[in-house]
Amino acid sequence: MTNLLPEMAEIWQQTLNWQPTVQQQAQFQRLYELILEGNLQLNLTRITDPQEFWEKHLWDSLRGIVPLLSANLSSASPTIIDIGTGAGFPGVPVAITVPNCPITLLDSTGKKITFIDNILTELALTNAKTIVSRAEEIGHHPQHRQAYDIALIRAVGTASVCAEYALPLLKLSGLAIIYRGNWTEEETTSLQNAVKQLGGVIESIEQFTTPLSHSIRHCVYLRKVATTPVQFPRAIGVPTQKPL
Ligand code: SAM
Repeated sequence: MTNLLPEMAEIWQQTLNWQPTVQQQAQFQRLYELILEGNLQLNLTRITDPQEFWEKHLWDSLRGIVPLLSANLSSASPTIIDIGTGAGFPGVPVAITVPNCPITLLDSTGKKITFIDNILTELALTNAKTIVSRAEEIGHHPQHRQAYDIALIRAVGTASVCAEYALPLLKLSGLAIIYRGNWTEEETTSLQNAVKQLGGVIESIEQFTTPLSHSIRHCVYLRKVATTPVQFPRAIGVPTQKPL
């Protein structure tokens, strides 16, 4: 089996108006190798084919945020948090892509965070740091509550749960980006009800297709427009058991 990632320079350029530098491509390649190695012990991802890894982990991680970073952000080096980063997605590709932005990678599973710590050292990603904790906990921590410009969250729960994890961590006018596969009108309605209680609004919902397998994806963008009431996030487990 060859473990060489494709470069896809033209597709990066066409879809995101961006391409990795030689150093970033080398970091993507090393990330891929480390994930394949880690997978032998940790069951990190079922996506191991090089093209599929490029599309579903690298491209998908960056699609939700790169267009924004070059466009309309108030802060030149926004502070970013990736909630429930797992094996490091979308946070690690983002850290590689925007080395000037401080990024925090959060997960409740210590083993995954230990694995990511090793990745950060191997890739010399000094802009990223990790935390083992739950979103329900750090959402009440003075160092983290209302501290981030952007919160990323992929494959962690329903959109309402993601909103309850993400909005307390955002500064006023910060942005939460919820990465989804499919999306329905009913989800918009229940999310609208949740974000209203959390001090947010749904700014936009973008649908797009992935460039190789042409699968449908969505990114839901939430803007924080008011301070999140102090009772949110609720205690550990409550957001998933009793979604807003
Ligand atoms: N975001 C990664 C991705 O898209 O590949 C990982 C997704 S994985 C399905 C969900 C991750 O979220 C797991 O690693 C889990 O430990 C973490 N997680 C779930 N609930 C969490 C919470 N309340 N706080 C922090 N991490 C959480």
